[in-house]
Amino acid sequence: MEEIRQKRVLMIPAPFEGHLPSMMNLASFLCSKGFAITIVRTQYNFYDISADFPGINFFTIDDGLSESDMSSLGLLDFILELNSLCEPLLKKFLTLKDDFDFIIHDEFVYFPRQVAQDLNLPKMVFSASSAATSISRCMLMENQDKWLHHGEEARSKLEELVPKFHPFRYKDLPVTAYGSMERLMLLYHNVSKRDTSSGIIHNSSSCLENVFTSAAEDTWGVQVYPVGPLHMTDSAVTCPSLFEEERNCLEWLDKQETNSVIYISMGSLAMTQKEEFVEMAMGLIQSNQPFLWVIRPGSITGQNSVDSLPEQFSQALTHGDRAFVVSWAPQKEVLRHRAVGGFWNHCGWNSSLESISSGVPMICRPYSGDQRVNTRLMTHVWQTAFEVEGELDREIVETAVRKLIVGDEGKEMRRRANELKKQVEDSVRIGGSSYSALMSLVDSIMSS
Ligand code: UDP
Repeated sequence: MEEIRQKRVLMIPAPFEGHLPSMMNLASFLCSKGFAITIVRTQYNFYDISADFPGINFFTIDDGLSESDMSSLGLLDFILELNSLCEPLLKKFLTLKDDFDFIIHDEFVYFPRQVAQDLNLPKMVFSASSAATSISRCMLMENQDKWLHHGEEARSKLEELVPKFHPFRYKDLPVTAYGSMERLMLLYHNVSKRDTSSGIIHNSSSCLENVFTSAAEDTWGVQVYPVGPLHMTDSAVTCPSLFEEERNCLEWLDKQETNSVIYISMGSLAMTQKEEFVEMAMGLIQSNQPFLWVIRPGSITGQNSVDSLPEQFSQALTHGDRAFVVSWAPQKEVLRHRAVGGFWNHCGWNSSLESISSGVPMICRPYSGDQRVNTRLMTHVWQTAFEVEGELDREIVETAVRKLIVGDEGKEMRRRANELKKQVEDSVRIGGSSYSALMSLVDSIMSS
């Protein structure tokens, strides 16, 4: 009998904290379905994760980029540079090792696109963000001139709803804090070229954004696979992080009352101005609610540590039971803890999915890029969060925390978050929409 050859899939994640784990969960799933998986990683941000994925092969591309290149170039130019450097390196690798049947690459590492085309290999794009974000980039490219004007009139235009993209306003489109509009447009242009792919995989679910996954299919004319949240699938593996988790915060949470704690984390990249940070600290203390706060080293602009904070704050941290500060938390476990009643977050897509899948309502404080889009989904589509806009002071922080944790509006948001959690859980079970999308992805790769 003729033996059926295992399909060999090459997967290329983007080297960022918010991108690698979701692609690794997809890799684990495909591996569990019998595909032979090879992961190509960049040398930049490399740390060894192979021990956690024993069935998967790893290969590293020697891009020669370092943390200091990231600091000097800025995120946007860094990504553009990474893509130009890696394209010939991948081509060389694939010329030497030409036994792959299929490529899946993260949308922000688009360098495999031309290589795959040259070698006649079928490919798909993986987006670690929502389908709404994919569309919002196109909307921004069409309307970029709106950000060129200044003054009252221009500002009020940004408040208007984007036609055919409700409930998003122009100001919710994913502009960036990490570089110029011109460079952003170049990046989005590259990221949004998808018509030569045989599909787009989103770490999202139809139950969360059916309208936008359908709109993405219309926009690119290819099949969209909303397969997430991937961290909830049976084959999901916790991917090690660049940062070291401080797990003792879970013991502290055990001592707190149910739904009483506000958890604050701004993901792996967002920076906070020192003035805002101090107001945040004072507002949290004034709120009288227990809080667990992730203060990532280097995340406060111009400050390396929390040493120069107001004395009252240091005292509250060292002498009270009401506060716990860590430099990195086991976030998924924290959000699932019964004591956590709310999440103050920048609305990164992973954090947003993790809060939904734990039934935790949020206070959104978006900084850049897709965080604005995710905020609008949270506040106006799912209604499990509210946004705190503009300059922060301690009274605003105090009021927001109390509104979410003890107020009636917060309770209602928690109720809706729990309903959404059930829908998301159903979507990843056998027969659910995300499960079915994963199975059709398998069929599509098999028949390619
Ligand atoms: N995260 C974590 N511990 C922390 C802060 C964040 O494990 O203390 C994880 C979080 O669970 C999420 C990821 O880091 O999976 C952040 O991704 P997200 O898309 O939310 O934001 P980004 O870092 O891309 O801005």
